[in-house]
Amino acid sequence: MALGWFRKKDRDGKSRPEEETADQPAEEATAPGNVSPDTAAEVEAPQADDVLTGKDDEKTQPEAVDPESENSVAERESEPAPDGEKSAGFFKRLKSGLSKTRKVLTTDIDELFTGKVKIDDEMLENLEELLITADIGVQTTLDIIEGIRKKAPRISGSAELKEILKSEIRALFDIETTAADSALVSKPHVTMVIGVNGVGKTTTIGKLAARANGAGEKVLIAAADTFRAAAIEQLTIWAERANADIVRHKENSDPAAVAYDSVEAAMARGVDRVIIDTAGRLHTRVNLMEELKKIKRSVSKKLPGAPQETLLVLDATTGQNALSQARLFNDAIDVTGLALTKLDGTAKGGIVVAICSAMNIPLKYIGVGEQIDDLQEFDPERFVEALF
Ligand code: GDP
Ligand code: MG
Repeated sequence: MALGWFRKKDRDGKSRPEEETADQPAEEATAPGNVSPDTAAEVEAPQADDVLTGKDDEKTQPEAVDPESENSVAERESEPAPDGEKSAGFFKRLKSGLSKTRKVLTTDIDELFTGKVKIDDEMLENLEELLITADIGVQTTLDIIEGIRKKAPRISGSAELKEILKSEIRALFDIETTAADSALVSKPHVTMVIGVNGVGKTTTIGKLAARANGAGEKVLIAAADTFRAAAIEQLTIWAERANADIVRHKENSDPAAVAYDSVEAAMARGVDRVIIDTAGRLHTRVNLMEELKKIKRSVSKKLPGAPQETLLVLDATTGQNALSQARLFNDAIDVTGLALTKLDGTAKGGIVVAICSAMNIPLKYIGVGEQIDDLQEFDPERFVEALF
């Protein structure tokens, strides 16, 4: 397949062809990159809707995809129960989740070399196609191919090519990261968790709370997704599991008030860490981005400098759409970190590479399952090892 039409020199981040993937064309990616920071907040714009309602709430999206169906379950690998050391089990899960992507990057690359000894243009074009299939994204793929083209004269086999590919991908993860999340500058450390419905916000909050609790921190969770009583209930269950306090108001109460009260309670109780759950649906009346900004404002009114972290949760199974969401949210609200969930259930693991190279926001956590300890701090080395 000739991919020349994908090539676009414009690298300013707007309307890049990355929004489309090889197997997921136009209708899923209605140029959300065209949404300007100004219009992003006014989600009347159909582009914003397309991105944000990928898996949105039942009220406005009756046909919404159940996050548990489709890719996340259908593609899930059956895997042996993790045994022995915990991190070895984590790594296994990660490897198993990335197995389809890995197949593309290993087996197929071996096939590229069949009957050849040197890298030529045709091979590079085929490699380009492979990387795009793995959801690494068009622009990132072109960058990787460029790096390989330079080194081509000294590559003489698939094993060497894979090593070079690994180091090219590894280099893409070298972005400047801000101070470590664990450094509690002012107490409590407040994390606001945002993202569209179904991506795994509530689950990630439960996992984060459990981690912090395990590290000896006193944790309080704020139930600022007040849209449905069920959302508050779900969060309450996670708070119990994670042994964390919870501040909750009634269904449909003001999310900003919940956030404010939770920070106030945390300060009074000497809590170390507050994690705020937020709604991810598009309102019909009030705008999602405006609501999130309001929550943020009320938190900083109570505790100047907070929230210290705004964590955007993205679902890896949505592929390039996750990247569009990252751009849209970041345009509206300063996102300080990303969490990418459901890597255990996808063939689109290359999206990690796409996101890390396209966004100047650190990927902090990856979710590799639905259990409380299925959250890992993102480790580029380990990820690249699991990818090949
Ligand atoms: P929210 O709407 O963003 O709060 O999403 P939820 O936390 O309610 O999660 C939606 C679904 O995704 C639930 O069924 C979770 O169990 C599932 N989920 C969340 N994180 C992961 C993950 O890392 N792996 C898998 N396989 N499922 C996950
Ligand atoms: Mg939720």
